[in-house]
Amino acid sequence: MTYQALTRGGQPWQPLFIQSIDGDACIGCGRCYKVCGFDVLELKAMTEDGDIVELDSDEEIEKKVMTIGNGDNCVGCGACSRVCGKSAQTHGAADIMASA
Ligand code: SF4
Ligand code: SF4
Repeated sequence: MTYQALTRGGQPWQPLFIQSIDGDACIGCGRCYKVCGFDVLELKAMTEDGDIVELDSDEEIEKKVMTIGNGDNCVGCGACSRVCGKSAQTHGAADIMASA
């Protein structure tokens, strides 16, 4: 079953959670990072071979890229998607997780 929420006024609202970031499209501008208030995103680096590595890696870095560091923190607000000029992110609804 898909998780759905309500606005404060009781209207249905569908959270769309971040699912992936296309490392080829992303330019590592950091705009999405700045608007996310839930510590979901993490700036990393991409090598010439397309491998994602830490920013301080000794490997030769081709560019910076945004990654999903803490995906479980996402509340599905969509703010990161609205500021991305490269349409690099994919968002979607999530299934309700069974309680432990
Ligand atoms: S949808 Fe909202 S909470 Fe999730 S990563 Fe984007 S800005 Fe952060
Ligand atoms: S806003 Fe888009 S292009 Fe910029 S870092 Fe985030 S995903 Fe990459």
